[in-house]
Amino acid sequence: MSAHSLEIEKGRWHRVLINGRWQSQKTPIDERYCIFCSENAVESEIHVLMSCKRYDTLRQTVFSLARTLIDNFDALEKESKFVQLLETDNIKLLQSIAKFVYSIFQIRVTHENDNVIVK
Ligand SMILES: [Zn+2]
Repeated sequence: MSAHSLEIEKGRWHRVLINGRWQSQKTPIDERYCIFCSENAVESEIHVLMSCKRYDTLRQTVFSLARTLIDNFDALEKESKFVQLLETDNIKLLQSIAKFVYSIFQIRVTHENDNVIVK
């Protein structure tokens, strides 16, 4: 069972029309692309939190606070930043991350609703 709606989880399967019949085929993990940017990146947790251009503005608040709390934050590799953010025990940073994640999923819900086809 998926715990979230990012493509890395939600995009496990796609439907293909073969000889007039729809069939489910597994989507390779490296083809579960982010639909919110044009980076051809897998929409994984680390992509969304650390680098998806769609969320750059929202991310600035988290990163600005992280710079004041984590030594040499800007010099860290993306994966190290990701770990540092998720391992923090600083309440203000955790709240900032929580707001960021909430906002991301609000944007995603809005986008998904835009794509609903009403017949
Ligand atoms: Zn993206």
